[in-house]
Formats: sequence, C-alpha cells, structure tokens
Amino acid sequence: MLYLSLALLLFALFLFWQSSKQRQEAGLPGGRVIYTDMRAWGAPLEQPLFDAKLGLTGKPDYLVEQKGQIIPIEVKSGRAPEAPYDSHIYQLAAYCLLVEKTYGKRPPYGIVHYPTRDFAVDYTPALESALLDLLAEMRRDETRAEVDCSHAEPARCRRCGFRNVCDQKLA
Ligand code: SF4
Repeated sequence: MLYLSLALLLFALFLFWQSSKQRQEAGLPGGRVIYTDMRAWGAPLEQPLFDAKLGLTGKPDYLVEQKGQIIPIEVKSGRAPEAPYDSHIYQLAAYCLLVEKTYGKRPPYGIVHYPTRDFAVDYTPALESALLDLLAEMRRDETRAEVDCSHAEPARCRRCGFRNVCDQKLA
C-alpha cells in the first residue's frame, strides 16, 4: 500500500513538473465551463482503476453514467482557476484512459470540479497521445539517477512534499 501511495504521489508530482512543457507541445484542451449537479454523482469510487499493461493506476473521485457513457470526475479543493491546471487535465486523461481500458467504453470527456466552477475536458486523441508520451517519458526517467526540476516557481517547492529531501528546491 505504501508502494502504491508513493507511486501515485510520484506520478502526481511528475505531472506537475511536466505539465507546462507538455501543454505547449500538445496543445491541450483548455476545458469547457459546465454546470453539474453533485447530487447526481452517487457514492465516491472506492477502488482504484488499474491497467497492468500500462502499469497505470488511479482513482477518480466519481464515475458517473450519462447517456450510456462513463464520465470520470475529479474533485479539487482550492480556488477555481480560469482554466483547469495542466496537471489536472493529465490526471483526468489518465482516468479516461483507465475507464476505457476497464469498461471498454471511451469517455468523450472528463470533469474536473473546483469549489466554484466545473470544467469538462474533452478526451481527444491528441490528449490521449500526449498522455501516452508522458507515461513513456516517465518510464524512461525511472531508470535515471537524477531528473532535473523543470520549473522555476518557488511557490511549487513550498507546497512540495519532497522539499525536505530535494537538492533542487527553489524555496
Ligand atoms: S522541492 Fe524539489 S521536487 Fe519539489 S517542486 Fe521543488 S524542485 Fe521539485
């Protein structure tokens, strides 16, 4: 369980590092503001989704069935941005991919829910391709002794769980 938690934490951190670069390269969808009714979401998901071939696991907060489609929903706390953060877009894309692998149905989009705003993020072939590239890059980096930090934002370091052991921290 500790291994799984660490893997998920590393995955989230890596997404955070890489998001700006990848977004520029891939032209990620920005997300559409939508209205969703939380009362229709049902119970939170209890078990993570897993795909052995990709070595990918993740647990969306909710899976909602809409018109025969299964839509993953990720709930975020904190101030709602003008557009979903890139790391959240990738996280949602990973959930869309896991839903497709698990249930054999490709979600047309996923939803990221901030306290005051919801966005639908289209799960396009371009987003899927960018995600797969990112996963491949992560696998390559797993074998490297050191991976350079890819940002210049001290605020990120202040919030980072690896700050105490990181020799590249900016704050
Ligand atoms: S503390 Fe280190 S690992 Fe964390 S965000 Fe800063 S540079 Fe990255």
